[in-house]
Amino acid sequence: MVDEPRIARAIREILLAVGEDPDREGLVETPERVAAAYAQLFSGLTEDPARHLEGGFAEEARDLILIRDLPVASLCEHHLLPFAGKAHVGYVPSGRVAGFSELARVVEGFSRRPQLQERLTAQVADAVYGKLDAWGAVVVVEATHSCMTMRYAETTGSVAVTSAARGGFEDDAGRRAEVLALLSRGGTA
Ligand SMILES: [Zn+2]
Repeated sequence: MVDEPRIARAIREILLAVGEDPDREGLVETPERVAAAYAQLFSGLTEDPARHLEGGFAEEARDLILIRDLPVASLCEHHLLPFAGKAHVGYVPSGRVAGFSELARVVEGFSRRPQLQERLTAQVADAVYGKLDAWGAVVVVEATHSCMTMRYAETTGSVAVTSAARGGFEDDAGRRAEVLALLSRGGTA
């Protein structure tokens, strides 16, 4: 579990290191507040988010299922600054499908770790493909990274797009392109 008192001590050190007075009124409770926030934002470290797909339900449908605009809110592992955006998940089931809210929990669980957008995309694709025994899965993540936009004005509004394909979509370029077009920005399913 997350050691909140240890985080609070570290945040107090950071405040001192930047020349602030951690005992002034506005900051006096900040170390504890940051510790509580980090405990929440890193809660995905102590769970296996893929387990949310173990429920699933039997369904004979073999047609494409697309879920767009699942919220992503994470912290980049290079700067511990937020990156936020949307995840789009497409898969072709092979006997089992997941509820939409379960997919949202998978995205949230993997987001609540020090993360890379590329790894997050791959982890969601692996979870959907593996846990549902799907024919194939494609995941697209679009996100804005504060470590860029807050520090470099010229990157304001820039969006990083990552994708991962698993299973049948790895070998079928035509089908993969079709799903990517539907999943990426501007596509309407
Ligand atoms: Zn970063």
